[in-house]
Amino acid sequence: MALTFDDGPHPEGTPAVLEVLDGAGIKATFFLVGEQVERRPALAAEIAARGHVVALHGYRHRPQPALRGRAVEDDLARGATAIAEAAGVKPVWHRPPYGLYSPAGLEAARARGLKPLLWSRWGKDWRRLTTPERIAGRVLRDLGAGDVILLHDADFYSAKGSHARTAEALKLIVRELKRQKTGTVLPL
Ligand SMILES: [Zn+2]
Repeated sequence: MALTFDDGPHPEGTPAVLEVLDGAGIKATFFLVGEQVERRPALAAEIAARGHVVALHGYRHRPQPALRGRAVEDDLARGATAIAEAAGVKPVWHRPPYGLYSPAGLEAARARGLKPLLWSRWGKDWRRLTTPERIAGRVLRDLGAGDVILLHDADFYSAKGSHARTAEALKLIVRELKRQKTGTVLPL
């Protein structure tokens, strides 16, 4: 299975998630937002330096269906460039904001050699009224081989402070995965 984190890098959320992952010896994939990477390039570089996969979420966090003309291609190009310049890695995987592809956006992603990846499990960790236990419970319910787990290491586009609940939930998830020995968590 794979653990994926969207919307970063975030000055508090990303280091907190990295600490839990590194403590557990687990590698994950981070779908970064270009405009956030430009604000904190060193943090994007650190994700890659610690052996995690850096992937593309977009340059701005806008739903693709709202973008007109060449805007979606420009957004992908700008986002990929921001990540490559900060982390020194050309992103291979792509997940659009809200998981929403427009036909033009999917075509543009494929034309750039990006591989689309959505998810099969989520913790709904962006919600204002949730808890680490609820997030972890939602992720772990019926979790199996091949599942792709969606979480968020940033609160830029979700409830304020949500990343703190996510980091706590991640500790519970990691503990349960180790206890069950159900599978290996792999980066993409
Ligand atoms: Zn997002």
